[in-house]
Amino acid sequence: MRTAAVVTIGTELTTGLRQDTNGGAIARALRDAGYHVESITALPDDAAAVSVVLSALMARCALVVVTGGLGPTHDDITREAAAHALGRPLVRDAGIAVRLEDLARRHSAPDARERMLRQADVIEGARVIGATSGSAPGQVITAGEGRLVLLPGPPAEMHPMLDEVLASESAFAPPVRFRCTGISESDAQARVEPALADHPDVTLTLLAAPGEVEVVLFAPDAPASLQRARQAVRAALGIACFSEDGSSLPETVIGLARRRGERLALAESCTGGMASASLTEVPGASEVFLGGVVSYADALKSALLGVDATVLATHGAVSEAAARAMAEGALRLPGATLAASVTGIAGPGGGTADKPVGLVWFAVAAADGPTIAAERLLLGDRAAIRTRAAATLLDLLRLRMEGD
Ligand code: AMP
Ligand code: MG
Repeated sequence: MRTAAVVTIGTELTTGLRQDTNGGAIARALRDAGYHVESITALPDDAAAVSVVLSALMARCALVVVTGGLGPTHDDITREAAAHALGRPLVRDAGIAVRLEDLARRHSAPDARERMLRQADVIEGARVIGATSGSAPGQVITAGEGRLVLLPGPPAEMHPMLDEVLASESAFAPPVRFRCTGISESDAQARVEPALADHPDVTLTLLAAPGEVEVVLFAPDAPASLQRARQAVRAALGIACFSEDGSSLPETVIGLARRRGERLALAESCTGGMASASLTEVPGASEVFLGGVVSYADALKSALLGVDATVLATHGAVSEAAARAMAEGALRLPGATLAASVTGIAGPGGGTADKPVGLVWFAVAAADGPTIAAERLLLGDRAAIRTRAAATLLDLLRLRMEGD
């Protein structure tokens, strides 16, 4: 696998005044193009430091991508530092200079022209990538076995240039990504590893977040092996996998509901509307998601969802009976064909021996079938329990729709 490195330049990054979003975004794009990214380095606007780091990275990487420090101001030192690292001169590109002259005339400061024109200085032998927005062009320099790519810092200027540089690399098999829920990271690993035993050329990465585990397979140089591994891993993950195309859980639920002609309604207690909010993030959700009820207090569970007060008094709000009654109440909302509910103890207080923090009840009620309830003991702090509960609620809807 070819090795790449990312360098982000700007004192605003190393002092924490600005967050380095380019580093991660470029690393992801490089990984998708089949590179092993050995490092992401943030450096201040210090030409000597940048030059030293670039020399070292160029000596060991096939590709080094640099962002920032290509603008017109005194602290923009990337061009000079890179030229120094490569031992090549800077040459003023006449075409870029003509275009910058136009921009320079809009500035009134006397030295503005010369400062603007510095952006026309390219490293000898560089291929220039024209600026689609902004003024600073990008540069690609081939040196020995490797390539150095200089891109502007503003993300909106950087991204199209990065896409242009990586467009020619698409011969590599992109990674396969399985998004899963209802499974722990270690269980996912235990299922997937045996499936990969026959595919030593496929690399496995597991990414866990509350409510989701992502299983990523890399084999940029072995597309056939990657395809076989994909089938084996998909089978091993079973129903835990909700998407192979990058779709989120809410997108998957909306897509299933659309295909089946369902109209969804939710009744949320401990999640306070988080599941509903995540569904409404999906463009086109209004075609299938009607809305729901955030019924936090018992009185609202009764008043808005028709949950019998004696059910709440006898079993408590966090109970199978309450979850079932909430889902069935949501199903009575106008037009609903499929409804789901969630009620649980998010903590940190409120837990008992019988009903500990993290206990959550769910139910799914359908116009054309029995109501099904499910209990989970979710881990983590209040935020994690709520996130996991919202994901579980959507996942139960998914499984119900996939199941019949
Ligand atoms: P520069 O190309 O160094 O003149 O950077 C111009 C602007 O781009 C900075 O002020 C930041 O707002 C933005 N920028 C530069 N580097 C980064 C980065 N690594 N991540 C996110 N934004 C950046
Ligand atoms: Mg800068």
